[in-house]
Order: sequence, then C-alpha cells, then structure tokens
Amino acid sequence: MTPPKSQVRDLAIFGGVPAFSSELHVGRPNIGDREALFKRINDLLDRKRLTNDGPFLYEFEQRICASTGVKHCVAVCNATVGLEILAKAIGLSGEVILPSFTFVATAHALRWHGITPVFCDIDPTTHNIDPQRVEELITSRTTGIIGVHLWGRPCEIQKLEEIARRHNLKLLLDAAHAFACSHKGQMIGGFGNAEVFSFHAIKFVNAFEGGAVVTNNDELAAKLRLMRNFGFAGLDTVTSLGTNGKMSEPSAAMGLTSLESLNGFIETNRRNYHLYKQQLVTSPGISLLRYQEDEKCNYQYVVLEIDEAVAGIGRDMLDEILWAENVLSRRYFYPGCHLMEPYRKEAPEARVRLPQTERLAKVVLCLPTGSAIGSTEITAICGLIEFIVKHAEAIRERWSMKPVFRHPLRTASSLESHI
Ligand SMILES: *Cc1c(COP(=O)(O)O)cnc(C)c1O
Repeated sequence: MTPPKSQVRDLAIFGGVPAFSSELHVGRPNIGDREALFKRINDLLDRKRLTNDGPFLYEFEQRICASTGVKHCVAVCNATVGLEILAKAIGLSGEVILPSFTFVATAHALRWHGITPVFCDIDPTTHNIDPQRVEELITSRTTGIIGVHLWGRPCEIQKLEEIARRHNLKLLLDAAHAFACSHKGQMIGGFGNAEVFSFHAIKFVNAFEGGAVVTNNDELAAKLRLMRNFGFAGLDTVTSLGTNGKMSEPSAAMGLTSLESLNGFIETNRRNYHLYKQQLVTSPGISLLRYQEDEKCNYQYVVLEIDEAVAGIGRDMLDEILWAENVLSRRYFYPGCHLMEPYRKEAPEARVRLPQTERLAKVVLCLPTGSAIGSTEITAICGLIEFIVKHAEAIRERWSMKPVFRHPLRTASSLESHI
C-alpha cells in the first residue's frame, strides 16, 4: 500500500501510484477449512460417489433445514436453475411481477421458460420491491410475485403475502443474498410458497456453484426433487418432465465446509461493515446502507449511495477513480434488468414506471468486504473516499485532462450510451 494522497495529482487516475499494489475485489470467496474440504473430497473419491443424491448432499440439505427451520431443502446446481425448477413446479405462467433492481437471473429464470417478467419499482429506502406498486401491475395474466431480499435485507414479506393471498397468486422469494438472515426473528427460508438460496462462489456461503429451494410444502418438495433429476421416480421410471438440476458431491462437500465456518464469515463481515460505518461518516454525501442489527444478518454487502449534489462527485466518477487505485468497486445492480436485453427491447415502457429503480441504479456502489479484506485496507479505502470527496471540485476540473483509464475488466459498454 502506498502512503495517503496529499494532492489531487497523486490519484492514480491522474498518473499517481495506485493506493493498492494488488486488486481488491468485491465478492472474493469466503473459504472455510481446507483440510476439512480435502478430507471430504478424499471420502467421496474413496466412496466413488460423485453425484446423484450422495451422502454429502443429504447432509447438506439436512443442515440447511436445521439452520433455517424449514421442513424441506432441495439442493440444486445453482440458484438460477433452482428458480427455473421452482417456477415450473409451482405452475407459474403468463406474467410474474418482480423487481428490476436485482441480479438478471431472477428475470432470466422466468423468461427462459416463456414467462413474462413484469418489472416493479422499489422502495428507495429498502432497495426492495415496493408492495404498493405490485398491486397496480396485477392483470388477468399474472400468476405470481417474486420478492428479492436484496443485500440480505428481507423484503416486505407480510405485505406481499397478503397481496398474493388476496389475488390468488404464488409468492416466491429470491433469497440468493439472504442465507443466515432473519425477518422478525424467523430465519429466511420459510416464507412465501418457497424461497431460493444461492451458494455461488461469491455468495455468503458457497458450494463452488450451488443453490437450494426451501419450502414447508411436502407436495411441492416432492415435485422439485423429481424435476431436479429428469423426473426419475425410480431406476427406469420417469413420472414427469424434468431437467438436470442436481448438486454434485464435491459441491455439497464445499457447502458443508463453508457452513462450518459460517459464524466466522459473519464475524468478519460484521467487523468490516462497522469499520466502514465508523470511517465513512467523515465523507458528506456518501451514505452506507444499514443493516437491521436486531435481526440476524450476514453483512455480505457494503453498499454505498452517492449523493452527487452533496458529495460533489457522482457515483461513476468515484467508481472510476477507485478502480485506478485497484479498489474494484461494483455498480450492482446497474442499470436494472429492464435496461438489459431482451427486456429493454420487449418492454421499453417499463422505464416510465421505474423512477426509483433508475435513480438508485445510478447512485449505488458496492465496496470490497469478506475475509480477503481487513482493517488496514478498509481504513485506506475510507481515507481515499474522504480525500476524493474533499477534493471533488479540483478532481472535476482536472477530469478532462486525465489520461484514458481502461482496466482490462472494463470494456466499453454499448448500453451506457442509451441511458
Ligand atoms: C446470484 C444471484 C442469483 C443467481 O444465483 P446462481 O447460484 O449464481 O445461479 C439469483 N438472484 C440473485 C438476486 C443473485 O444475486
């Protein structure tokens, strides 16, 4: 790490030495005990049981049930396939209402099966789907609602449940971010008709790639199990349409190993979050998204909102400056699903009803956290942000004279010119 900047020209974007000599990423995997993983991998090789409902899968599913208090866990190869199988199993068709401010998989999982995602605006304070707007979008073709617990913060579950009940709709919850989080004291997993977790490498708990559909509904769980495995009910008996959504034994082994370190992951994330929270207060116009600390949280995301009018600098400029310093911040979930294809072309009118989504997508920035980051890095990142905000005016003046900065990961986006 280089010493703190004293002048604007010390910023790497203007030719100075980057604050960090190696890159700091958002979403570096949380990795548990290697020896425990290696032992499990040895075991599964010895057993010659690589996939197809093996003992690690069984154990992983049991652990998820125990930690969420949900009756059934159907582990799958990833959350996207989990959402797809769930949409089929529960009979979604026609239109389904969901937020646009989410990872594109929430929408793609529907559209892949010919279901039309109808994007709903969000509540700007929670970043989650706004139940008041949901009701306006219900038509005779609507069959369900998908709420997303963005950043691990539960969406307004009770209100959505009430709307779903009144209109006879299914309620699914994309809980990809929310494993080990609670809502009104109850663990996420048991709400709606079913919830879906992701155990992708960059999620809080990882199984390399993986996911799970959790539900208290016996019949639905049985259907999901069949669909996950081509509809096989016995060796030569296929009783329904299905796909290959199975979680392999090495994934389950990694999942189990991650679960064993869960408390450590939470502790690290929580400590990082509080360090950011303490140190970012000195930067006006930069606000940190808060977690509800009387609930269980996994603190997996450090989410900023940049108020350009106060900070003197916009989100995109800040993002670019940080990248030059080797702090690879991320603009999740920019620009919103409704501005990605095929949705942008198919439903251009969505923009009009999503003002909060469009505003928020332009001001949110996620910073690195997790076990790859410690107090030294966080102090330096916060110092950097404070310096940038303090010198915002001088930076803006100098902006047009800076050399072109192009990180290999940042390719020019044809989309941006349309927004
Ligand atoms: C990561 C993510 C998914 C997809 O999860 P995979 O396991 O990678 O398929 C779905 N929804 C949201 C909100 C996500 O962040």
